[in-house]
Amino acid sequence: MFDLIGMNASETLFARAQQLIPGGVNSPVRAFRSVGGTPFFTQRAQGAHLTTADDVDLIDFVCTWGPAIHGHNDPDVRAAIARALENGTSFGTPNPYEVDMAELIVELVPSVEKVRMCNSGTEATMSAIRLARGYTGRDKIIKFAGCYHGHVDSLLVKAGSGALTLGNPDSAGIPASFAAETIVLDYNDADALRRTFAAQGAEIAAIIVEPYPANCGLILPDPGYLELLRELCTQNDSVLIFDEVMTGFRVAAGGVQALVGITPDLTALGKIIGGGLPVGAFGGRAAIMDHLAPLGPVYQAGTLSGNPLAMAAGIAALKKLKATQPYDRLEKMGRTLRDALLGAAKSKGLPLQVPQVGSMYALFFSEQPVRNYGDATASQTAHFNQLFKYALDHGVYLPPSAYETCFISTAHEGADIEQAAEILAAGIRAI
Ligand SMILES: *Cc1c(COP(=O)(O)O)cnc(C)c1O
Repeated sequence: MFDLIGMNASETLFARAQQLIPGGVNSPVRAFRSVGGTPFFTQRAQGAHLTTADDVDLIDFVCTWGPAIHGHNDPDVRAAIARALENGTSFGTPNPYEVDMAELIVELVPSVEKVRMCNSGTEATMSAIRLARGYTGRDKIIKFAGCYHGHVDSLLVKAGSGALTLGNPDSAGIPASFAAETIVLDYNDADALRRTFAAQGAEIAAIIVEPYPANCGLILPDPGYLELLRELCTQNDSVLIFDEVMTGFRVAAGGVQALVGITPDLTALGKIIGGGLPVGAFGGRAAIMDHLAPLGPVYQAGTLSGNPLAMAAGIAALKKLKATQPYDRLEKMGRTLRDALLGAAKSKGLPLQVPQVGSMYALFFSEQPVRNYGDATASQTAHFNQLFKYALDHGVYLPPSAYETCFISTAHEGADIEQAAEILAAGIRAI
């Protein structure tokens, strides 16, 4: 099978990169610090596959960390970018794509009446928080341990995978006074939430939550938990922000909110809505969104926001999801993998949890279902790291951290999913 030990081109590139780029990477988890070894460089990507700089072919379950739901280099997305490119790359004025994109998001995401485009998920959550504070005139926000909302100062507290596996849960460079405005609670702890609102409800501008936390493995809400968030925000005039940068268009076209029928006040989006180009967006109730400049006092802007190439790519990706409705197919593939992983762990006598929703799944080597950050960090990451290495050596790329979610694309359907299931099952038996 495949053997990455002699990966010369990637090693050479990484050595050069380390001289020039901090840690050799432009985003920390890519450096493989938590799993060990040298990261491979990708030369090209097609469908469910990556081809490394050393010409090794890998079935990819990272899917560019979520965006590639149609697989890499999807022909429809590529054609849309090529058509847009004929007309120029950036205008600095309003452009027609922005209106089409806004129409699609408003149509598909139940809670969104108005939407503003930006350039990353981080910008989306940062702006949503600022808007919630400007709208309510309050400063405090609630976030949950293990939820990642991008590298926003006040949100980089107990922030999941990247920060977690670097042993650096709170980043340096964030004033204590910023972090002091952030109340961190355990996800799925209903009593802690009730107590916090009882004590400080009038000071709380917003709750920000990944409705299905997916940056600390994958954690699912207890029955009634998301409903409780909605109820407490409504009672206390606080803004409920769903960060659906990961789950939006991934678990359903309308995100978790469409699946569970809960209406947040604001929603942050990113990843899939850019079709593989850099994009973010935030939207919600018109009465809140109209507090943004130029209508209102909350400032937010972006030189490249609504960029025509990114809009064209995103529109093509969303239209394709709308037309093909691949969610049942993705769910089937998710179950196939989950069943293979659990079956292998059982035959080996290894405790394993595989939370899975549609095309998202994660592995926790632990006895108990994982309900929060503490449960997640108590899992046996050494086992995951062994599996990661086995999989990579045999042509399957899992995320390079025990605290990431794995993603499936429509391009995995068929032989790739079956082959990957066999390799991952063998990897578990080899632990
Ligand atoms: C990836 C992610 C972000 C940050 O998005 P970037 O585009 O990387 O800035 C924010 N929230 C969630 C839930 C994410 O998964």
